This record gives sequence, structure tokens and C-alpha cells, in this order.
Amino acid sequence: MPTFHFELGELPPAAEALRVEVREFLHAELGGHTPAQRARSWGGFDREFSRKMGARGWIGMTWPKRYGGHERSALERYVVLEETLAAGAPVSAHWVADRQSGPLLLRFGTEAQRQRFLPAIARGELAFAIGMSEPDSGSDLASIRTRAERVAGGYRVNGTKVWTSNAHRSDYMIALFRTRHDPAKKHEGLTQFLVDTKLPGITINPILDLRGSHHFNMLVFEDAFVPEEMRVGEEDAGWKQVTTELAFERSGPERYLSSLALILELIREAGKDPGERAAAVVGRLVAHLATLRQMSLSVATMLEAGENPNLEAAVVKDVGTTFEQEVPEVVHALLGLEPTIDTGSHLQQVLGYLTQTAPSFSLRGGTREILRGIIARGLGLR
Ligand SMILES: Cc1cc2nc3c(=O)[nH]c(=O)nc-3n(C[C@H](O)[C@H](O)[C@H](O)COP(=O)(O)OP(=O)(O)OC[C@H]3O[C@@H](n4cnc5c(N)ncnc54)[C@H](O)[C@@H]3O)c2cc1C
Repeated sequence: MPTFHFELGELPPAAEALRVEVREFLHAELGGHTPAQRARSWGGFDREFSRKMGARGWIGMTWPKRYGGHERSALERYVVLEETLAAGAPVSAHWVADRQSGPLLLRFGTEAQRQRFLPAIARGELAFAIGMSEPDSGSDLASIRTRAERVAGGYRVNGTKVWTSNAHRSDYMIALFRTRHDPAKKHEGLTQFLVDTKLPGITINPILDLRGSHHFNMLVFEDAFVPEEMRVGEEDAGWKQVTTELAFERSGPERYLSSLALILELIREAGKDPGERAAAVVGRLVAHLATLRQMSLSVATMLEAGENPNLEAAVVKDVGTTFEQEVPEVVHALLGLEPTIDTGSHLQQVLGYLTQTAPSFSLRGGTREILRGIIARGLGLR
């Protein structure tokens, strides 16, 4: 029977040397950020910060130099990700493109697409969104209905995408559309496209989240024209590509750090003499964190070795998001502290932000149930 493969590993000296450089950069850039700002990390969108990351060579790190990349190792990239997320840096303006849109173009894009988009992504100049979910299609992605019909020189698109994070501030999105409809074969007839978010025929409507913030959108396509040269890969072959893209999205080492700002605030609050109960809670959280980090490092090591750690990555995301969601509950139970939004101590504000946001941790990038289905299939159990 197939099983999980996690190995204890250490980062090579070159990667650890890079850590010092990244920390110094982040200290200088984020010195004035409050803990509540740092807790927003993934939510932070700052093009200037992304350009600086690009100038340092920390976007597209593993890509070929001819496409603006830096031909560094997956483990060096791991260190940059780990440090930027642990510091709560605002990564959203380059994050999606670095993690999935760029690698997708590298694998399935045309030479012209690679030359046009990858160097600009690596410079931190292009922000990408993900156009997969629709009002009636989330987990069951193959049921999407947004149609791309062939017309002279390209495709005419009609339909609706939803939950599209940061589409209103992104330059492009990689979107999945239906190019052929056969109810008996829903995984066929899907195609991916590079879509300029400013195209005529696309209306971007904000959706406010639980906190009243605008990061989600609903995109309505009404006869939007997407040129032929913006199709990614073969027509009707999008299912294999989109599952590869989802694997890029899920195999990252970052799915356990979203609540780190709260653990740090708890440690600060507990101080040098925390008392038995607080010491036990901090010890347990840090032990889980260290274990998850090792599991995640093991995924990065497998990626570096050219292996396919999809199963292990799904486990890290499942166990990692469970941990991230537990942290606000555990801290609340320990301190009995009122979570707040804009007032109160740093600890209260970080707790307030994470209490409101944590439910989404196990939804974004595929729900817990879907991941467990993938794990069961990988283990030959279904
Ligand atoms: C913070 C955040 C950011 C997001 N950003 C984007 C984005 O940028 N682009 C984008 O395209 N989408 C985005 N999404 C959408 C996300 O991908 C979907 O919410 C997710 O795939 C679930 O789809 P759904 O919401 O339609 O729920 P549904 O698929 O309707 O699921 C509802 C519930 O049923 C369960 N369920 C469904 N099918 C099964 C099954 N076969 N077996 C067991 N249980 C099942 C699910 O686990 C879930 O608990 C984002 C979501 C969040 C929370």
C-alpha cells in the first residue's frame, strides 16, 4: 500500500546564508509594521514591496535565467517563503504569480507567453489572480459553466467567476473556461486562458468578507474577447493543467504559518515567567509548529529532488490548516481575552483578526474534505 514519505532534513549552508540576508531586508522593510499588520501577511497587497522582492531576485527564484529567473534551488526559495511569511510581509502582489501562474506558464505556455510574462513577474511587476471558482462550482471544479466560444482570432467569453481574490488589483488572471460541453464528460472541454483583467466585457464586482474588507470579487464576463494567443496550452486540455496548477498551489511550504503572529504575541505576553499552564500551551504550540516545519521542509526537499510530493503536500496543508485554526481558539481559552478589531492590545487585535479569518484557512486552495479525498485516493483507499 502507498504511504507517506517524510524525512527529517536540514537546509544546505547556501540556503541558511540566504536566510540572514532575507531577515535583514525584512527587518528594514517591515520594521514599523504592527503585529496586527503582520498577521495579515497573505492579505497584504503592496506592489512596491513586491518590486523590491523582485529586485533582490526573490521572485521566480527557480526559473531559468532566460525567462528572468535566477536558477536557484527549491530550498533557497523555501527559505525566502518561510522568512517572508513568518515576518508577515505583504506578499499578495507577487505571491500567486510566483507560486502558480508563472510555473504554469513555464510548463504549458507558449514561448511567446513565457518571454512576455515571466520576466515581468520575476521583477515583481505583474500581479495575477486565480479564476477557477464559479457561483455553482467550487470543490466540483469540473462543473464550471463559463463559456469560451471560438470566434475569429480568439474566443468570446460569457459567464461568472466568484471568490476571485485580488482580481480588482491584479493585472492578469489565469482562468479556466469551458470550450466544449458534453454533460457525460465534464472533465473534457476545459481550457485555460491568460486574461487581462482590464478587458472590455469584464465587470469586477466587490464581495465584502466577514470583516467588511474587500479582497474577494465576482467577475462577470459579457462577450469579453480573449485573443487566441492568450490561450494557455491546448484547447480542451485544461483539466490536466488546472490540476497541475492546484498542485503548485497546494504543495507550498506555507500552509501552517498564518497564525504565527498570534503565537509570537502570546509568547511576548507570557514573558519570561509564564506560569505552568501558559508554558504548557506555548510548548505544545511550538512543538506542533516545529513538526509541521519539518514536514513542510521535507516536501520542499522532495520538490528539489524532482519528485512529486502531492500526497505529502496535501497532508501538510490538512494538518497545517487544522493547526492554524486551532491557535486562536487555544489562545482565547488560555487567556479568556476579548478579541478586538481596531482597539485593545496588539494581542487582542491579532486574536480578533485571526478569529475572523481562521475559518477560511481550510477552504482556500481546496477544502479539507477535498484534500482528505485526495489523500485517501493517494493511499489507495478509494
Ligand atoms: C480566502 C479564500 C480565497 C479564495 N480565493 C479564490 C480565488 O482567488 N480564486 C478562486 O477561483 N477561488 C477562490 N476561493 C474559492 C475556493 O476555492 C472555494 O471556496 C472552495 O474550492 C470551495 O468551494 P465552494 O465554496 O463552492 O464550496 P463547496 O464546494 O460547495 O463545498 C461546501 C462544503 O461541502 C464539502 N464538499 C464538497 N464536495 C465534497 C466531496 N466531494 N466530498 C466531501 N465534502 C465535500 C466541502 O468540503 C465544503 O465543506 C477562495 C476561497 C477562500 C475561502
